[in-house]
Amino acid sequence: MDGRALAERVRARVAEEVAAHEGPIGLATVLVGSDPASAIYVRRKREACEAAGIESIHHEPDASISEDDLLGLVAELNGDERVTGILVQLPLPEPIDENRVIRAIDPVKDVDGFHPVNAGFLLQGRPTLTPATPSGIMELLHAYEVSLAGANAVVVGRSNIVGKPAALLLLAEHATVTLAHSRTRDLAEVVRRADVVVAAVGRAGMLTADMVKPGAAVIDVGINRIDGTVVGDVAPEVADVAGHLTPVPGGVGPMTIAMLLANTVTAAHYQARSLAHPLA
Ligand code: NAP
Repeated sequence: MDGRALAERVRARVAEEVAAHEGPIGLATVLVGSDPASAIYVRRKREACEAAGIESIHHEPDASISEDDLLGLVAELNGDERVTGILVQLPLPEPIDENRVIRAIDPVKDVDGFHPVNAGFLLQGRPTLTPATPSGIMELLHAYEVSLAGANAVVVGRSNIVGKPAALLLLAEHATVTLAHSRTRDLAEVVRRADVVVAAVGRAGMLTADMVKPGAAVIDVGINRIDGTVVGDVAPEVADVAGHLTPVPGGVGPMTIAMLLANTVTAAHYQARSLAHPLA
């Protein structure tokens, strides 16, 4: 499954939607401190925005910013009409309470989909702004026409940003979903039943060929740096067994940024009332 090519198509679609949209579309990015990996991620997101015609509004407070001042900045962005999407890059430095900062973002501007209101709508089977990585997974499964209704889907990893929302999105499309994690007994046996496997663990090569049902669609979310190269959670031999497989790099990664842009347009539609958010 070619995430790079699909991401290009999504980005082109987003650029068309931006051009057709009446009113402002601006993504505010907030990068606290100078963590080099976070700085790279934010730079890529800003560049992608600008390429799609979305205004990028960047704030880079010092790592010593107080939680109250950061909450004040979020409140300011909530009230700014030019800003239709807000992204606070995680992780935030200690002692800032990440959850409190996420909760302060206006849910209709929450382009990361991490706000409990948007997470709650997803839990109810009414997806609104959903986290970008799992949205990208769904876009890949749709593009490659992987049938989901009634399929056995196993998601390995239960984080709030990948595994859990991926499981809920698959459930919303009527897959029979199993959410596996570090305490799952006999993971190999659980995964072997799956028609669709999502590996979101962060352990290089942990999903081996003997764990995969022949013909299954396998989505590799893992990003693991080994001796300067990036590898996924899925062992290379899985390619011989799987019906579909996402490469690392070039699979889920490019889709994540593309879906962030798609969310930014959706958020702008909510604010222009051309789409109704369930809160409105
Ligand atoms: P995370 O918060 O560390 O969660 C990892 C999950 O894997 C946890 O639920 C953990 O279970 C589970 N796990 C750990 N060891 C396991 C084992 N031996 N068997 C089964 N499950 C196990 O990680 P994350 O943020 O979800 O990210 C997962 C991976 O995806 C990382 O490599 C990350 O870099 C990558 N990622 C990629 C993108 C992208 O755009 N491509 C985006 C986000 C993340 P417990 O809950 O029981 O501890």
